[in-house]
Amino acid sequence: MGLGVGRSIRLGRVAGVPVFVSPTWFVVAAVITVGFEPFVARNLPGLGVGTYAVTFAFAVLLYASVFLHEVSHAMTAIGFGLPVRGITLHFLGGHTEIERESPTPARDLLVSAAGPAVSLLIGGAAYLAAAPVTAEIPEYLLLALAAANLVVGAFNLLPALPLDGGHMLRAVVWRITGDENRGTIVAARAGQVLAVLVFALPFLLAGGRPSMFGILWAVLVSVMLWGGATQALTVGRMRAKLPGLDARRLARPASSIYADQPVSEALRQAHEAGTRAMVVVDSAGRPTGVVNEAALNAVPEERRPWIPISHVARSLQQGMTLPLDVRGEDLLRAMRHRPASEYLVVDGDGRTVGVLASADVDAALTAR
Ligand SMILES: [Zn+2]
Repeated sequence: MGLGVGRSIRLGRVAGVPVFVSPTWFVVAAVITVGFEPFVARNLPGLGVGTYAVTFAFAVLLYASVFLHEVSHAMTAIGFGLPVRGITLHFLGGHTEIERESPTPARDLLVSAAGPAVSLLIGGAAYLAAAPVTAEIPEYLLLALAAANLVVGAFNLLPALPLDGGHMLRAVVWRITGDENRGTIVAARAGQVLAVLVFALPFLLAGGRPSMFGILWAVLVSVMLWGGATQALTVGRMRAKLPGLDARRLARPASSIYADQPVSEALRQAHEAGTRAMVVVDSAGRPTGVVNEAALNAVPEERRPWIPISHVARSLQQGMTLPLDVRGEDLLRAMRHRPASEYLVVDGDGRTVGVLASADVDAALTAR
């Protein structure tokens, strides 16, 4: 599951992996304690306020097993040589951040399956352990823990992102089609469908008259699912466009303007040449800066004859000059390394080819 809300509190390390707790954990622990108290009071009558202690113990046991679920993901990933950045426990579950630089569908499938497998194992073990127990409260807690883990395990196996089953579906589609992004998009769509179903569930189950608790729970879960699925869909769509991201194709033809030329003259020259982008050059014709389109447009008409073009240009710093053949992931990495609104694109001999505008890259990534 993936939901990053608020800042997380660091608990410690397990096998070198940092473990964090999101503040939402405490909110949900409180919701579980209060929300399940009536059920416990019905099943264990005569405890008085002690029922709160039992439900709180249940919340702690539930999160301990969620923690083991996440540790199982992390250990499997480490076993495959994938670096794990951390485990975060948050409302309704946890999230293990794994660097999946160049995984294979098979490894992805096994890392994803490891969590639900442990939940189902804990559920089965708690159920078996409850059999010889005769004391009322421990037996009740073990059976509740068994039921909760079976639900967590089964729910996470649903084939919809951001659930583990969604990662598994993604890996299967990836394996069959050979297209990782197709897998992401299919599993993310399934996640959106599941989010809608979960939202409708309390209304369907209660015949149109659901409890407040049921609605609250369904809203929390469906928001988490919808958010995770939509984020995965956006990433999948963007990554599908990466191969088409090409400095050569996206670079705007540019005019070379001497640094001391006024804005009005620069605009006249660019208009004449039929270009939108401008590169500022020194007296020897060497590029020294790239005109910032927003700054240029912000110069009022009547000021344009008096402001030199260098005033609306950003000086070329290291990383602002991109080779013509940079593309895809490499292009994005270069842009992240040196954020700018415009970049100079040069050919193999260092000659100016044009200007790459970040806005054009964004548009290419988000175009449908
Ligand atoms: Zn999981």
